[in-house]
Amino acid sequence: MKPTGPLDRMAGAHDAAVLEVARHGEPVSRAGLAAALQVTPQAISKILSRLGERGLIEEAGSVSSGPGKPTTLYQIVPGSRRAIGLHLTRSRVHGVVADLTGQVLERREVGIDRQLPVPELIGALAALARELAEHGNGHLLGVGVGMPGPVDSVEGIYRGAPAPDDAWQGASLRSLLLEELGLPVLLDHDSRAALVGESWSQPGLLDNAALVLAEDGLGAALRLDGAMVRGAHSRAGEVGHTVVRMGGVPCPCGRRGCAQAEYLAALETSDAERAAQVLATVVLNLVRLVDVDRVVLGGRSIYTHHATTMEAVRAALEEGLRAEARLHVEVLLSTRGIDLIAAGAACEVLEHEYGLPTTLVGPGPG
Ligand SMILES: [Zn+2]
Repeated sequence: MKPTGPLDRMAGAHDAAVLEVARHGEPVSRAGLAAALQVTPQAISKILSRLGERGLIEEAGSVSSGPGKPTTLYQIVPGSRRAIGLHLTRSRVHGVVADLTGQVLERREVGIDRQLPVPELIGALAALARELAEHGNGHLLGVGVGMPGPVDSVEGIYRGAPAPDDAWQGASLRSLLLEELGLPVLLDHDSRAALVGESWSQPGLLDNAALVLAEDGLGAALRLDGAMVRGAHSRAGEVGHTVVRMGGVPCPCGRRGCAQAEYLAALETSDAERAAQVLATVVLNLVRLVDVDRVVLGGRSIYTHHATTMEAVRAALEEGLRAEARLHVEVLLSTRGIDLIAAGAACEVLEHEYGLPTTLVGPGPG
């Protein structure tokens, strides 16, 4: 197996930049693209013709502004490419198929057993992917899988939680699924997938942002100066095991007072207020550590108590940053609802088509 490389990096970067502009808005003109990318209109013509040949861009009519030839407009062809995103948890797989702009075309969900052996798990993921592949007709680029960590997204391996009875620990989920489907596959943390998807939905807003995800556990992902942060072991943002209370609730990792343990303990006693306080502490610590201007909250557990949670987090930030009038941090609720992670995993696959670095790995020798 080898990483799926871009076709031609230099040309690819320009093509990707044009696609990126086209993805976000209204039909664009050659001159508009030239101005946005700071290249000549002649260069844009070449790029547009390459993208046109690949079916990614098409003409979208023309406009007249004064005398002379009308200006031709171009737009992205959303249906030209597709990607599948799967959100794997311990109890279910939620899957979507998305078009080139990240729009969800179809979604499916199946329940799975907590202790499902790896071969059966791969079977379940592949079956759902095949079902989703029936929808839409653009070229299918691959399958992205987002799941709770620790995940080694570079090697495509689920490293496993600190639980001794974890049937999936150490499984090379990416290569097994790739073998099963014969399609490029990417494996990543649920929170990272979520943040990629969310930054597609809110272009330009999340260049310095943290996404805090509360599902069955607690995690976070970071985007700083416009780039996703992975870290030395692909584990950046694992806030679930940072201590928020000395001598607190025991955590499966062996320590006490981890954010995740405290959060889950509060939810178990239906203390939504306390759970929100734990989250607020996590968010404030993150903001202090990495200097972001937006924090996105997402995940099923947050949606259930979103009013309490948003209020607690906003209050904690206001209180915690009071002394620094120039620091403004906006707290947002994710825009993608239950599709958040699956759609994000599909966007991660699609980013390969936009010339961005991904850990998508395709079939092939070497
Ligand atoms: Zn812990």
